Amino acid sequence: MSRIVYVNGQYLPEAEATVSIFDRGFLMADGVYEVTSVLGGKLLDFAGHQVRLARSLKELDIEAPCSDDELLEIHRELVARNDLTDGMIYLQVTRGNPGDRDFAFPDPATIKPTLVLFTQSKPGMADSPVAKTGIKVISIEDIRWGRRDIKTVQLLYPSMGKMMAKKAGADDAWMVEDGHVTEGTSNNAYIVKGGRIITRQLSNDILHGITRAAVLRFAKEAQMVVEERPFTIEEAKQADEAFFTSASAFVMPVVEIDGASLGNGTPGPVAKRLREIYLEESRKTAI
Ligand code: PMP
Repeated sequence: MSRIVYVNGQYLPEAEATVSIFDRGFLMADGVYEVTSVLGGKLLDFAGHQVRLARSLKELDIEAPCSDDELLEIHRELVARNDLTDGMIYLQVTRGNPGDRDFAFPDPATIKPTLVLFTQSKPGMADSPVAKTGIKVISIEDIRWGRRDIKTVQLLYPSMGKMMAKKAGADDAWMVEDGHVTEGTSNNAYIVKGGRIITRQLSNDILHGITRAAVLRFAKEAQMVVEERPFTIEEAKQADEAFFTSASAFVMPVVEIDGASLGNGTPGPVAKRLREIYLEESRKTAI
């Protein structure tokens, strides 16, 4: 079935939705995005995604394409028009179409940002079978730019990392800089050692995951010990367990790093428990 997507104020069948070849998102990767999960027809962590979007736009001097209320309305309209039960809503804002190619930013008074949203259906995504067996990661060098806290659409290296993982018979890659893990290609990385949950602290080196914020809050509420600091791949391989978080994977157990099994090679109790708590609590506040 053809989707109804949103482009600059219009709801259109996907085949009729277009963006200019001069759009700076296409020519310069000059844009930002958000992915919000939908469970049971409701949006998870919506406020968090909205706040991060506003921050990404501000950091790049891109005008907000619409108000917060309008943004929520568009998300809800897309859920309704596409009869979406479980899945994601992808949102992208670019600096727009100046009608030509130029490195200098166009005048925001005349060139308005491009806003695109579409749905991706993933029935039963909360019961993903991989979450029961866990996933395998490899480590790769982190050669991305220095503002990874901004959620830009420059995703070529993360895509290459994912392909390096597949080629190595793994599922994903954790990126390493100066000997320490920054994050996964599209997720935040954690290890568990002696009952302590260890994850890199927030900085410009990593994306400030919305799922990360929620999971750390729930972990602390459940009296778990959280240590926010960098960790090495060697430390990760010696950990009792590992996992990652993202809006679309929730909490995902990692059972192998660079070919070394963690614990007994099955998802660990902390990751399993955090996945349960995250799903339960975020369904409660879904809108
Ligand atoms: N880090 C990176 C590099 C990501 O691409 C993502 C997901 N887009 C995350 C972390 C996780 O962020 P969130 O929990 O907000 O999906």
